[in-house]
Amino acid sequence: MLSIDDALDKIRKAIQPLAGEEIFVADALGRVLADDIIADVSHPPQAVSAMDGYAVRAADIPTAPTVLTQIGEAAAGHAFTGTVGNGECARIFTGGALPDGADSIVIQEDTTMDGDKITINEAPKPGAWVRPEGLDFAAGKTLLAADTLLTARDLGLASAAGATWFRVRRKPRIAVLSTGDEVVMPGAPHRSDQIVSSNSVALMAYAQVLGAEAVSLGVAEDRPESLRAKLKDAAGFDMLVTSGGASVGDHDLIQSVFGDEGLDLGFYKIAMRPGKPLIFGNIGGMHLLGLPGNPVSTGVCAAIFMRAAIECMLGLPPQPLYQAARLGSDLGPNGKRLDFMRARLTPSDTDLPTATPFDRQDSAMLAAFADADCLIMREIGAGPATQGDVVKIVPLGFSSLKF
Ligand code: AMP
Ligand code: MG
Repeated sequence: MLSIDDALDKIRKAIQPLAGEEIFVADALGRVLADDIIADVSHPPQAVSAMDGYAVRAADIPTAPTVLTQIGEAAAGHAFTGTVGNGECARIFTGGALPDGADSIVIQEDTTMDGDKITINEAPKPGAWVRPEGLDFAAGKTLLAADTLLTARDLGLASAAGATWFRVRRKPRIAVLSTGDEVVMPGAPHRSDQIVSSNSVALMAYAQVLGAEAVSLGVAEDRPESLRAKLKDAAGFDMLVTSGGASVGDHDLIQSVFGDEGLDLGFYKIAMRPGKPLIFGNIGGMHLLGLPGNPVSTGVCAAIFMRAAIECMLGLPPQPLYQAARLGSDLGPNGKRLDFMRARLTPSDTDLPTATPFDRQDSAMLAAFADADCLIMREIGAGPATQGDVVKIVPLGFSSLKF
């Protein structure tokens, strides 16, 4: 059986980034840059005042107090077009362009006004309170590199740099297919010996969280013809993600049927729990990720492998899978497969968060999976672990609170 690291390696080697498409800056949150963003303009575009006060020539004020004559006013968006000469000053407000001739700002608190006679009570240092042109960035500077996942702050930066339209990676198009004679789509009438396809909805939603577009192909019955028909429906997608039918039981048809249809198998079976049967390959020019059917197995495998596959299509650099946490309760030794235990995370201000595993770890228990904030990873053959030990976790949950 393959290790998770080797499986992720194979996925990352097999999947190339998708092509780029033009996008308007205001629509680009969460998208991945296909090209660098280079500043079109400098920021600020010209020297401006950082305070309300008077624009002066520092050399005119060797000592304070010194009286200057006000000859104009520069408010933000309303530049003063004259030149500040010897013994002169201009009223200026925050964001106002520094007039020609002036080189420094005296804040208004350090002045006394009497008509157009302004007494400067504090001699300024040359350049005081001036934000020079390009202080933030100069035109021509690379501000955001290709492969960057765009945050709200990045969009602000791109706008300031004059990048109104730019190229981001196309959203991966993911087809989600459930399998099983017992499985019905949510909302459809069903008997008590049937189950609702929780996987379809969860996988589509998660694909969207990861930055993909997802379409449900419904449910394939456990018959080769049904699976073949669904495979036709999947033509043109970037990746087909199936759930169920991934083992080698009589009713588990993904490998055999897709094998007949030209599946180029990358790997099958991972040494992990939950989720041993897992298929990765390529079929008809499309990636295939065959996840196990148990909802928690599906979810755990998606959080590791579907995430990696979509990140590759988006061209994102490999993201770390694990974070550190402290174990919230003692654990016995682990067996021959990497174990992912559903756990609750308690944050701490001063230390790592604490991850407390749930008592029951059945891979059919969806409520506990929904309740979990993370998965505690236990290495193959790990000995007993004690409360307070540092462990590796895979964080779950929704991280949309970042700016
Ligand atoms: P399988 O891998 O096809 O043997 O399925 C394993 C278990 O997962 C079975 O108990 C299925 O009923 C269940 N299962 C399969 N597909 C889904 C689905 N789409 N939603 C929820 N449970 C499923
Ligand atoms: Mg099945």
